[in-house]
Amino acid sequence: MDFYFAIIHPMSNTLFFYNSLSRKKETFIPIDPKEIRVYTCGPTVYNFAHIGNLRTYIFNDLLQRTLIFLGYNVKRVMNITDVGHLSGDGDMGMDKVEKAASEKGMNAWQLSDYYLEAFKKDMERLNMLSPTIWEKATATIKEQINLISQIEQKGFTYKTSDGIYFDTSKFPEYGAMSSLTNDGIKEAARVDFNAERKNPRDFALWKFNTTGKKRAMEWDSPWGIGFPGWHTECSAISLKHLGNPFDIHTGAIDHKETHHPNEIAQTEVATGKKMANFWLHAGFLNAESDQKMAKSKGNFLTLQSVIDRGINPLAYRLYTYGMHWRQTAAFSWEALGGATRAFGRLQVFVQENLPNSTNLPNYDDRGSAPAGALPQFKERFLQALSDDLNMPQAMAVVWDLVNTSKKGNFQAEAVKLLLDFDRVLALGFSQIIPIGQIPENISKLIAEREQARASKNYALADKLRDQIQKLGHTVVDKQPIVWYNRQALLV
Ligand code: AMP
Ligand code: ZN
Repeated sequence: MDFYFAIIHPMSNTLFFYNSLSRKKETFIPIDPKEIRVYTCGPTVYNFAHIGNLRTYIFNDLLQRTLIFLGYNVKRVMNITDVGHLSGDGDMGMDKVEKAASEKGMNAWQLSDYYLEAFKKDMERLNMLSPTIWEKATATIKEQINLISQIEQKGFTYKTSDGIYFDTSKFPEYGAMSSLTNDGIKEAARVDFNAERKNPRDFALWKFNTTGKKRAMEWDSPWGIGFPGWHTECSAISLKHLGNPFDIHTGAIDHKETHHPNEIAQTEVATGKKMANFWLHAGFLNAESDQKMAKSKGNFLTLQSVIDRGINPLAYRLYTYGMHWRQTAAFSWEALGGATRAFGRLQVFVQENLPNSTNLPNYDDRGSAPAGALPQFKERFLQALSDDLNMPQAMAVVWDLVNTSKKGNFQAEAVKLLLDFDRVLALGFSQIIPIGQIPENISKLIAEREQARASKNYALADKLRDQIQKLGHTVVDKQPIVWYNRQALLV
């Protein structure tokens, strides 16, 4: 039994998160209020991230930002899976990175670096904070071998012809958060079959190279040449940087069934201590057809394909706030169009009401918010965030603030508060330039573009928009027209 000394942080609201471990919403009590430790399962870098993956990482970013907004220091660690994730997510099949590299005629190391850079670029375009620590699976082989040795010393492993396996029958708590019944596990194991496995839930800690060909990524180990199982890296990396127990472990719902139960089994057997207090699992974003969106299925949209349709990546970010992070939902171009228009309205509202905008009366002359109005909006915003990161509710507060300020003529104060909220929303409000401060060369191009649009010369208008973009500025039309082409939606 572990005992934690808990102090509620003086700056924080009471926070609630739905914890997959207890299957209910719980009050969040930090283990050490001086620093909250969070672990995020990172991407498998064998292809571009799709917008479903990115929705999960936006949720992770919101979590990090909200904790910071509430006054906490946060140490968030994210792994990069560049080895060991096999097609089918189980213990059979080819390594996803090695397979993609051979298909593309690339080296596995180069391929994973390429997609890692692409992922980082997507994170930047979506205004995500960097985790405190990134760690590649291939950079922690020593730690992973040590972890497997510890599990072996405790008598929880056995050897088959293709690897070292974890014996789940010796860990009765196995799969506490999984919704899979034994029948479901057997069915999954039937597809992903290894006859030597003692129990369908057993999983590989170390895999031998059984292909007869040298892999680009393989290492010597006490058990023979091979590579770590997919689950091993997350236990080793979290132990290395966060110890255990740590506060929050995040992922998406697919991890609840196998990957996370396996991580828990590894860490808790190796250390004899709980792995993490809170387990947060994000809902999936399905394809428009409501089928699972998956890199392995090829039915996915990348962020670039959204941008190619003229949609600002931050409009996609706003789109994800329309759903609760735990809700699984089908992607919809119509809903993304609505979010794009809403995003444009918010940007225009901020720009028109930023102090220093020349089209406004002097900031000091503007009406001020009725006493108590702004703290009340901030309180409601904080309440929405604190209640299991309820973003639809937080956005309702944002719109209420915008509309109420227009009626009460306290827009400039509302914008100041929006800039504060943007530390969590990350919609780029702080990068908006007041109208009076737009550089002269940009103003000239904007005026030319307005003229081109007025005379319906859209080709020229687009060219000017690109030119402005190259100079580091983005034009937002007051009523952005979003047009959807249902063809060629897939990358
Ligand atoms: P992967 O790169 O496949 O390891 O996945 C990266 C992250 O995206 C993991 O947290 C997955 O659980 C999550 N994920 C995978 N597919 C989806 C989806 N369709 N919607 C939301 N998250 C997903
Ligand atoms: Zn993981």
